[in-house]
Amino acid sequence: MKKHNFSAGPCILPQEVFHKSAEAVLDFNGIGLSLLEISHRSKDFVAVMDEARAIVKRLMNLNDDYEVLFLGGGASLQFVMVPFNLMPELSGKAAYLDTGTWAAGAIKEAQKLGHVDVIASSKEDRYRYIPKDYTVNSTYDYFHCTSNNTIYGTQMKTFPEVDTLMVCDMSSDIFSRQLDFSKFDLIYAGAQKNMGPAGVTLVVVKKEILGKTGRNLPSYLDYRLHIAKESMFNTPPVFPVYVSLLTLQHLEKNGGIAAAEKRNQAKAQLLYDEIDRNPLFQTFCVEEDRSLMNVSFNLTDESKKEAFDKAWKEAGINGLNGHRSLGGYRASLYNALSLESVQVLVDVMRAI
Ligand SMILES: *Cc1c(COP(=O)(O)O)cnc(C)c1O
Repeated sequence: MKKHNFSAGPCILPQEVFHKSAEAVLDFNGIGLSLLEISHRSKDFVAVMDEARAIVKRLMNLNDDYEVLFLGGGASLQFVMVPFNLMPELSGKAAYLDTGTWAAGAIKEAQKLGHVDVIASSKEDRYRYIPKDYTVNSTYDYFHCTSNNTIYGTQMKTFPEVDTLMVCDMSSDIFSRQLDFSKFDLIYAGAQKNMGPAGVTLVVVKKEILGKTGRNLPSYLDYRLHIAKESMFNTPPVFPVYVSLLTLQHLEKNGGIAAAEKRNQAKAQLLYDEIDRNPLFQTFCVEEDRSLMNVSFNLTDESKKEAFDKAWKEAGINGLNGHRSLGGYRASLYNALSLESVQVLVDVMRAI
């Protein structure tokens, strides 16, 4: 029996995508070869990469000022590439918003390359909320934020107006809700949370912001090189790119981001309503910053833990344990998770 998969990442993808990916591993496009054994320079794979880059721009409604890249190294490498490409060598200065473990990881890397001001942080309150009271002036080379905090279950509902470049780590809520993506100068996302399998990272960047740091960048770290080579500077992660393409095609076919957002709101509402109604459960974070994607919650009565754990496992639920740094529970409600799966979880919560 297929489980109800609430895993935080790598995570659930559409069932149809798993089937098509499996087919492509055996025989890609009926060419008598596996996707895994053909050259990344073959016309069949070049078409995959071209369409993957094009569909991202279509879904995000971005014009040709933007370039789309599929890179290796995870979102973690973007923690490094962003300051390398946007912070001038000598006088670099960036503003970072500290909203959780991943934001803190990005800050740590940027500090190695220039001056970083943590413009606001909720660390002292265990990242239970998103700070909103700050301004970012034009003395900064860029502002960096994390749209969704995968571990703590908080999400930025609005983005600040800043007087500098806007950079965002959207790893765990990319393509989950409508945003004006043209407000951002650089967006990155590890695929494995809502877009595809592990092994590839999406980067969307406004071309004109690049090449201004005076740094002699190592080749792989230079976005301009990847842009010039159409995301084929070196061998790209062919399989993760293909599976990401299938996932995005599935999204486009099913109403795009607008329709996904509606489904995601309905799923989150169903679960948060139960948490609010049921005295046995409470969310980790404050109500106004609750994430639509990752719902982190606790039992208020630890003596029920054994019974609850047994019940959700018996109901065919997978991946409900909270992040190891936080404990408790985390239900990740990524695009491919159905409302029916959330209902199964809610039924278990009601019965406990
Ligand atoms: C998972 C995650 C990361 C780290 O991604 P990797 O691809 O494993 O490097 C970074 N930022 C956010 C918001 C995440 O959820």
